[in-house]
Amino acid sequence: MDPSETLASRRDRAFHLHPSSNLAALRTEGPLVIVRGDGVHVIDEAGNRYLEGMAGLWCAGLGFSERRLAEAAYRQMLELPFYHAFSNKVAAVSAELAERIVGVAPAGLSRVFFANSGSEANDSAVKLAWYLSNAVGRPEKKKIISRRRAYHGVTVASGSLTGLPFAHGDWDLPAPRFLHTETPHHWRYAKPGESEEAYAERLAAELERLILAEGPDTVAAFFAEPVMGAGGVIVPPATYFERVQRVLTKYEVLMVADEVICGFGRTGQMFGSQTFGIRPDVLTCAKMMTSGYVPMSAMLVGDGIYRTLEQQSEKLGVFGHGFTYSGHPVAAAVGLETLRIYEERDLLAHVRRVAPVLQEGLRALADHPLVGEARGIGLIGAWELAKDRDRRESFDPKAGVGAQVVKNAQKRGAIVRVLPGDIIAFSPPLIIEAHELRELLARAEAALDETW
Ligand code: PLP
Repeated sequence: MDPSETLASRRDRAFHLHPSSNLAALRTEGPLVIVRGDGVHVIDEAGNRYLEGMAGLWCAGLGFSERRLAEAAYRQMLELPFYHAFSNKVAAVSAELAERIVGVAPAGLSRVFFANSGSEANDSAVKLAWYLSNAVGRPEKKKIISRRRAYHGVTVASGSLTGLPFAHGDWDLPAPRFLHTETPHHWRYAKPGESEEAYAERLAAELERLILAEGPDTVAAFFAEPVMGAGGVIVPPATYFERVQRVLTKYEVLMVADEVICGFGRTGQMFGSQTFGIRPDVLTCAKMMTSGYVPMSAMLVGDGIYRTLEQQSEKLGVFGHGFTYSGHPVAAAVGLETLRIYEERDLLAHVRRVAPVLQEGLRALADHPLVGEARGIGLIGAWELAKDRDRRESFDPKAGVGAQVVKNAQKRGAIVRVLPGDIIAFSPPLIIEAHELRELLARAEAALDETW
């Protein structure tokens, strides 16, 4: 045993089964034990400060020390720590949050179903699509299409939606009924000389071909993140969603926007759907809804879907889906306070003001010898590393080049994340100031240089 190892680290190694981690590597390195937050920084047990360039897991929009959220949780715990929303009961604060969310949601979404995680919200949306098809007498309309490299979660249904090998493989996913179509990444997948418009058109045609091959009467829903997050921070071509949406409308396929990362300001508007002109039938969100301080997620639908659900309740006696913690009052209080802070501080205007610092800073290193492409929008971005930029050739995954960049950044007090394909992701707290963004970029650049 390493005598310098701390108690927290020893406990972690002995008793904790880590989510989404390399368990074998944990035998010899890590964990990084974080004990405190301070604005856009987190502090480890040795007192080292890190500029948190990922807002944790794309979620701590208001940073790591917003007292108002802690106080809102405390007040709610004293007043009503738990109540549920089953059997036509509700905590007042949950109803208030539902109203507030509808007030900022994309046009046409008018009802909020609460859950606890992004995976649960997406599972709910899958079940909803199946339930609706049965309700309208089209029981064969059940297939679900998402995209390769999408990340929608890890439960059986949301993990099936996810289009990344690590979520499938030995987990026996995707389950039947789940299909995947192309990833809208122009730099990596476009044909030589193909414009973004032509590429978007080709992808929409590809989607249409898949729907026709399966039979339009068998396809219920299409799931998409406005900007793909964990699959590589992939910003679609400008006309992509407009074209995709046309295909979906033609074949009566529901458009489900997974706004778990993009929702609540990440792309510079409240929702990514607004940034990209998506008209979702169903929208899922989580993470920055409570700034990540307590778990909460939601699924939003419009009046048409809601009326069908009401009619089903007349027939069946119940909407048979819900969680103990759906609309948990403490989470709802934190969510409400989060949205109040957004409004009072005009956080969306702040994001739009500082976003160019991140975007221009990332692109300034587009010709770094390790970088294949620099990309992003709003306060989300990435460097995709490449062995040969012009040939779009990646490094051997076993070489761990991206992981080395992340390690070198961490040594310099900056937390960024490596995604499959040696993609270095940035998704800082939305409250980050321009000088902090410059510092984050400077530390990341030094990490690239050291790795090179
Ligand atoms: N959808 C997207 C776009 C996500 O990025 C994530 C998580 O990162 C999820 C769904 C799953 O959310 P959770 O981890 O809360 O289940």
